[in-house]
Amino acid sequence: MASSRRRFLKTMVSLPGAGALAGCSAAPQEARALRDVYQELGVRPLINAAGTYTYLSASRMPRAVVEAMEAASRHYVNLNELHAAVGKKISALLGCEAALVTAGAASALTLGTAACIAGKDREKIRLLPDTTGMKNEVVIVKAHRNGYDHAVRNAGARLVEVETAQDVERAVNPRTAALLYFNVHGPEGAIKVDEFAALAKKHGVPAFIDAAADIPPVDNYSRFLKMGYDLAAFSGGKVLRGPQCSGMLLGRKDLVEAAALNNNPNTDAVGRTNKVGKEEIVGLWTALELFVRQDPAARWTEWERRCKAIAAAAAPVKAARSEVFVPEIANAVPHLRVIWDAAALGLSPADAVKRLRDGEPRIEVKAVIENGLEIAVWMLEPGEEEIVGRRLREVLQKG
Ligand SMILES: *Cc1c(COP(=O)(O)O)cnc(C)c1O
Repeated sequence: MASSRRRFLKTMVSLPGAGALAGCSAAPQEARALRDVYQELGVRPLINAAGTYTYLSASRMPRAVVEAMEAASRHYVNLNELHAAVGKKISALLGCEAALVTAGAASALTLGTAACIAGKDREKIRLLPDTTGMKNEVVIVKAHRNGYDHAVRNAGARLVEVETAQDVERAVNPRTAALLYFNVHGPEGAIKVDEFAALAKKHGVPAFIDAAADIPPVDNYSRFLKMGYDLAAFSGGKVLRGPQCSGMLLGRKDLVEAAALNNNPNTDAVGRTNKVGKEEIVGLWTALELFVRQDPAARWTEWERRCKAIAAAAAPVKAARSEVFVPEIANAVPHLRVIWDAAALGLSPADAVKRLRDGEPRIEVKAVIENGLEIAVWMLEPGEEEIVGRRLREVLQKG
């Protein structure tokens, strides 16, 4: 069936004027029938053994998502109506009060902050990021400071750093707009994730959490909200494999509604630069439905199988050994660590990474470590684990 479809598409592209149609209706998995846009551009694609890194384009959408986006592209709609309808679907699916599709988790941080600062007040919304006359302080654990807090500052927030629960007690005042927690950095600070939510509750201030990369488990979509967070930001283009420029702001209805008022398509609003189109909105919803319906155990087993396949391919190299590991927090999925004696192989980890990158096909890995490298398998396409394994063995053997 697949091959007859391919033949059909091939016939289509050979008809004058039909190329664009074939290009639209086929999914990336049927790349043979599509234009080779990357060759036209001279941009060399890569096998993603690195993970969901934005600069490597992070994830590939399943075919059903691409098809839903194409279906969405065929009509005009009122974007506010579409946002509301998809928000309803997502909140029903995840069991939260409200949801807004955003331009990535970073945009969810900006919009959630804008909601906490300006609320639904039109004048205040127009003024942001100028926060004159508004609550604008966002309390953050000092050890959580990271590049993504720029998205919070974009809304006009002034970050107030704290280290302990007592610091939070002292920091909260009538100008406090929100308490913000970066879940991935939780272990680096002294305040635990649930304790932080409780502190916010105690002072009647919104608690906001960035949990962008904290799926799986799927339960995390609702866990932090149940814990007491009023808002939570998630990525759509990471494990979910929705559109790369999509994300979600989940949580309290009044705050999510306020975030929507601070968002595109409102022109005089801080979120006007955070546009998601109808295709991304529908694509994210579709990706989420697919993801929550998948069997998590089967997904996990497949990731482990890929790790083992790559480890087995590298096993003939005597000076090297492999181990499967799961990051404790964020991207908590099976990964492979390959370590070797650089002197015995005459090959440094940096050289190995360079050879994988420069070779054919181009392969990017997760990280160079002191005595080897780390490989992510969860963004590989089926069968690519064989290629990664073979190339890794070749690189290690040639030294
Ligand atoms: C990836 C990530 C983001 C940004 O997510 P996008 O969906 O790419 O905007 C924000 N915070 C953390 C902790 C992340 O890992």
